[in-house]
Parts: sequence; structure tokens; C-alpha cells
Amino acid sequence: MASLTTPALVLRRSDYGDYDRMVTLFSPEMGRVDAIARGCRRPKSPLVNAVEPFTSGEYQLYAHKDRFSIEHCQISDSYYELRADYDRLCHGVYWLRLLGTSILPDSPAPDLFIVTLRALAHLNYGELRPELVTFAFEMHFMRLNGLSPRMDACVRCGRPIDGDARFDPELGGAVCMNCRCDGPVISNGARRILMKLPRTPFDKFQLLADRPEWPEAARLCRSYVNLRMNMDRFAPKLYAPDSDRPA
Ligand SMILES: [Zn+2]
Repeated sequence: MASLTTPALVLRRSDYGDYDRMVTLFSPEMGRVDAIARGCRRPKSPLVNAVEPFTSGEYQLYAHKDRFSIEHCQISDSYYELRADYDRLCHGVYWLRLLGTSILPDSPAPDLFIVTLRALAHLNYGELRPELVTFAFEMHFMRLNGLSPRMDACVRCGRPIDGDARFDPELGGAVCMNCRCDGPVISNGARRILMKLPRTPFDKFQLLADRPEWPEAARLCRSYVNLRMNMDRFAPKLYAPDSDRPA
């Protein structure tokens, strides 16, 4: 029996019993933590807001035989604005599902935790299009899972690529024009974005807003993420980066 405190982000929750909820937390030091929040559905429970998805804070947990309960939470951000904007909310829900598929118990992921909170701050408070924030989050998410697409050389023959190419989401990268590939053509500009974005600090993604090739890169990135992370059924209509929406 022990009490411990960890920063965490709520990924999801479900009702349990009459007054409780089971909550899936993402902790940078512990990875995925499933914890019960006893009494949080009672009126005036101090945990009522602490169990909502997107809430981040310092969670005080009580551990007993591999089971956790939430004793207390000091909320640092509820990301309230994104919950009130359906479009942004859809993007955020998609991120939480991506995280839910990849984070495992007892698997620390401090860098992914930081990227997630920064991305959420952009989605909640920022002015950039949510499609661009999602694209940046996806690319860094894949990098931190060791799944960056290979964009500097052909995934079939290994020769360096310096120009237009094709993109094969199943092979996970660019295919040179000399090799067989049924995938779409990728412009040199979009290919370079996919190559460089995972290698630059997360917040630099804002510079992409002025690059005309980012929607193309984002669309190809999505096809790759959907395939690798098995997300197709979760994000069908979320994404239309080539639409005529104002920037
Ligand atoms: Zn090739």
C-alpha cells in the first residue's frame, strides 16, 4: 500500500458502479495507469472535474495490489475551450485515441507527454488550423514511437531521393521514381516536410503554416498513421486539409 503523486493527462473514463468511474491516465513516468475514482459521480465530489478527458494535473494515487485509486487532483489545465469547439474537439479526441493505442502500463514516455501537452495548448489556445496541429502531433507521436516514415531514401532500393517521389504508406516511406509503387506522387516540398518535421523541436511546426505543401504532406502522413496505428475507423471524416477553409 502506497501513496504516490504523478503528473497525468486523462485519456478516457467510463462509469463504474453507481458513483465511481474508471479513468485511464497518461503519466510521463508510469505510462498508462488505470485508476478508479471513487465517488466522483456524487454531487460535490472534489474529483468531478479531475476525471474528465483532456484534464491534466498532479494526481495523487493510492496503490494497492497493482490497483490504483485517485485520491486527489490538483488540476493544471482543463483545456476548456477545445471542448466547446466541435472541430477542435474532434481533433483532440483523435489524439487521445492515438495515445490510448500506444501507451502501455509501466512504460514511461516523458517526451511524448511533453509533446502532448504542448500540442493541446496549441489546439486549445492557439490560432493555427487544427489540421496543422494534428499533423505536427502525429509526426512527433510517430517519431517517439520509433515509426517515423523514411523520406530521405527509397524504401525499396535504398537510393537517396532528392526530388519528387512516390509514397508507400505500407512500406512506410518514399519510393524513388525508378522503383515500382502504386502509391501517390509526393512533391519534393512535401517529402522534405515529412523528412524534417520529426527532427525539429515540436513548437517549430508553426513555421509550416506558410508552406503551401503542408496539406499534401499532412494527407500522406494521415494515410500512414491510419495504417500503422489501425486508426481508420476512428478518424474517417476528421480531416480535409485541402478544403477551401480559410487559413
Ligand atoms: Zn528505388
